Order: sequence, then structure tokens, then C-alpha cells
Amino acid sequence: MQYHKVTEEHIRKLQTILTTEQVLIEASQTKPYGSDYTEDLFYPPEVVVMPFTAKQVADVLLFCNENLIPVTPRGAGTGLSGGSLPLLGGISLTLEKMNKIIEIDLKNLQARVQPGVINQELRDAVEPLGLFYPPDPASKGSCFLGGNIAHASGGPRAVKYGTTKDYVLNLQVALPNGELIWTGADTLNFSTGYNLTQLMVGSEGTLGVVTEIVLKLIPFPSQRLLMLTRFENADSACAFIPEMMRKGITPSAMEFMETKAMQIASEVTGIPMSTDGVGAFVLIELDGNNQETLMSDCEQVYETLEKFGAGETEVAETTEQQEKFWKLRRIMGEAVKQNSIYKEEDTVVPRYELPKLFTKVKELEKKYGFQSVCYGHAGDGNLHVNILKNNLSEHEWKEMIPLAVTELFETCKILGGTISGEHGIGLVQKSYLPIVYSPTHIALMKGIKQVFDPKGILNPGKIFG
Ligand SMILES: Cc1cc2nc3c(=O)[nH]c(=O)nc-3n(C[C@H](O)[C@H](O)[C@H](O)COP(=O)(O)OP(=O)(O)OC[C@H]3O[C@@H](n4cnc5c(N)ncnc54)[C@H](O)[C@@H]3O)c2cc1C
Repeated sequence: MQYHKVTEEHIRKLQTILTTEQVLIEASQTKPYGSDYTEDLFYPPEVVVMPFTAKQVADVLLFCNENLIPVTPRGAGTGLSGGSLPLLGGISLTLEKMNKIIEIDLKNLQARVQPGVINQELRDAVEPLGLFYPPDPASKGSCFLGGNIAHASGGPRAVKYGTTKDYVLNLQVALPNGELIWTGADTLNFSTGYNLTQLMVGSEGTLGVVTEIVLKLIPFPSQRLLMLTRFENADSACAFIPEMMRKGITPSAMEFMETKAMQIASEVTGIPMSTDGVGAFVLIELDGNNQETLMSDCEQVYETLEKFGAGETEVAETTEQQEKFWKLRRIMGEAVKQNSIYKEEDTVVPRYELPKLFTKVKELEKKYGFQSVCYGHAGDGNLHVNILKNNLSEHEWKEMIPLAVTELFETCKILGGTISGEHGIGLVQKSYLPIVYSPTHIALMKGIKQVFDPKGILNPGKIFG
């Protein structure tokens, strides 16, 4: 596709569709929209637009479609696959001004929100009403709900409560032809033709722009118990996790952290954490509404821990202590970023195969001579493998690491998993897609893209190589 550069005339037109203040053109203003949390990539947009309404979003899309200008939707820019980077320039369409919680419907246990609402803000708004919005990416303090939908985001509590996809009921979407549609109904059941709502979930801003969201809420569990446990080696920590689930206990979170991850998190936060003789940590959270049930589940957890030779287990008695443990876990992405340039691979396998995946990572480390830091939502078999650049040469980083990543992803496929559990394909994983999908599968997906966006103006250069 031959796209057009944004001209002075285009800018004048955009300023009439929106207002002058909603169109950023100075390099100092547009620069922050050229990067996200992915490695050290930088693709600045020519122009940034900040719509206030769904109609303005739709009008911008129509304008881009008619003028063949690439347009890249953007949430908070916390993505880890380069999805919000305007690879081919054009317009960055940020949803940051569409940040209202429109309604919390106590009768139906639903929330109606704009896409620029920060995940944590919704959680904080519903909690005093006794309600819970479970999907909680570790970036929940900054990422937007629209971004969560576009990436089908997960989080620590997915092991019990599922991911974003399990809470999205209905979406208003702006299409490249300038139309606004609702994808389904505000209902829990839906069997009315193709499920366009779920098609939008994980579509990474390549099919349409989400402009309003109806989400399911559930009652807030009143009791919570959090434990941080140590294992001498990572293998037994990985093996312990599926065993726990087989016992019929479903923790509300089960996070794996190898010792290196804990060490850098401890350095960055200043929270002391002894790691002597520890190969890996597992953070286990149980929740519910009945203290007795929770205590009996806790006993079973202890029995299983013993069976797997776990070391010291600290129980977070106070909310403050719980926050401290969670802070260590949540800071890990940021802590790795501060340590070195890195690539974060979002590998996922059926939970029981996790030990094999972890072993493979360590084999690849030796084979290719890199260092990695692993942690993740192990209850879901989702292991974040952070490959550090450290002292690797540019040649090693650009030529050799992709070979290691290819081997890693092939292993995921063999183990019944895939190459991204929650971060999306975006820009950085697109060349690996053929490892998990056949040409027919990819052709079907491209066909869907063609139907929604025949001129290919929406987030071009993402998902497909
Ligand atoms: C420290 C850290 C921890 C993280 N932890 C987790 C985690 O636990 N679980 C997890 O799943 N992810 C995690 N992430 C990744 C990231 O936060 C999520 O992918 C998040 O959902 C991205 O949201 P965002 O608003 O920042 O979107 P962006 O990064 O701005 O955009 C992401 C994609 O969504 C598209 N998009 C954004 N808004 C819209 C819209 N309204 N309509 C259509 N497309 C849109 C963009 O085009 C892009 O393709 C983490 C990231 C960091 C930095």
C-alpha cells in the first residue's frame, strides 16, 4: 500500500474535525508517542490526535481512509510488543482524553467505560460498592482498559478469574469507513452470529478503534491470604504449581519469580529480601468469603509445599505486607528495563509443561551465551522470559538472539503452547507467527483484516510479517 505523508492541508482539516488543541504537531509533543515499553524502539508519528468523543474517532478514521494516511491507536503506551508504535509514521490516535467511567450498573453488575480509563481506576471505583473487576495486569496503575482489550491482557489473577476476554460484554467500535458499531449485546450469553466482541479482543488496533466498553463485574471477595514461598531450585517451584491446582485448590494468584528477578526487584524498590540458597520464589494468593475455607485451603497448600521441599514461607499478615510482596512482583518489568536493554518473550504453555519450558530457557541461555530473567503468571503457564542485552554485541543481539527466540517458540508450540499469552504480536513478534500458525490460518486472519480495513490504514505493519 502506498500511504501518504501528512501535509499542512491534512493538518488544517484535522483541526476542523477536532480542535487545534487536539492536534499535536510539534516534534517535542509527538516524540513521546513514538515509543512504548518495548525494548528501545522509536517510531515517531507525524501528528498526534486526541479525540474526546467516539464520533471524533470515527471521523478521524474516515479522513485517514480517504487520504491513505496510516493511523495507529494508542492507549497508555505500556505495551510490550510495539503495538502502539506508528511504524509507518502517519497519525497516532491517543485515547487518553476518553477516560470517563460512564456508569456502574449495580442492578446488572456491569460497568460502562471509555477506553482511556486506567485499569486501577475502575477497580478503585467499584471496590467500595462491593464489586470486583479482576483482570489486573502488573501495569494496572497506568494501562488503559482499551489497551487491555486490544491486547487481551491477563494478569496474576487470571489463574482463578480469567483474563480481559472473560469480562468484555459489548464494545462500541469505530471502523475505518467512519461508522460506529456495537459488536454484540450487554448480556452474559451471546449466540447471535459471529462473535465480533471477542474478535475485537486481542485485535491490537488493527480492525477498529474501541470507543466504549461494557464490562462484567463480580462481587468482591472479602478475605485474602498471601504467602511468599522459597524453593531451592526453580524446577521444583515450577513443578509445585500444577500439583497445587490438581489438589482442587484454585489460588487467586500464583506467580513464579526466579531469584535473579527477585534480586533486581529488591534493589529497585529497596525492599530487603533474603535470597541465599533460593532458586525461585512463588507468590500464592488465596481469596474467598469464608475465613475457615481459606484456612483449610492454606493447610493443603502447606502440605503440598512440604512435598515439594519448599523452604521458608512468609505469610503476609497485614495489608501493608501484602502490598510489599505485590510491589516486588509488579516492579519486575520496570526493574529489568532499568538493568539492561531487553526483549521480553511472553511464552505460554499448558501449566503442567512449565518445568520443561523453563529448562529449555536455561539450555538456550548456555547455548547462545545470553542472560535471562524469568518470572510470570505461572498458574496459567505464562512465563515472561526477559533476554538481557548486557554486553552482547549488536550483531549478537540482532542476528543470534532471534535464533534463540525461534528455538524457544518452537518449544512452546511442541509443548502445546503459543508465542504470546497476553502481550500480543504487534511489531516485534510478527516474524515468528508462522511458527504457530499455518499459511491457511494466517490467510484467514488476513482475510478478516481485509474485510474490516480494506485499505490497510489501521495500525499497518502489525501482527503480519
Ligand atoms: C511493567 C509492566 C507490566 C505489565 N504487566 C502485564 C501483565 O501482567 N499482563 C498483561 O497482559 N500485560 C502486561 N503488560 C503489558 C501492557 O501493560 C498491556 O499490554 C496493556 O494492556 C497495554 O495497554 P495500554 O493502554 O498501555 O496500550 P498501548 O500499549 O498503548 O497499546 C497496545 C495495543 O492496543 C491498541 N489499542 C490501544 N487502545 C486501543 C483502542 N481503544 N482501540 C483499539 N486498539 C487500541 C494499540 O494500537 C496497540 O496495538 C505490562 C507492561 C508493563 C510495562
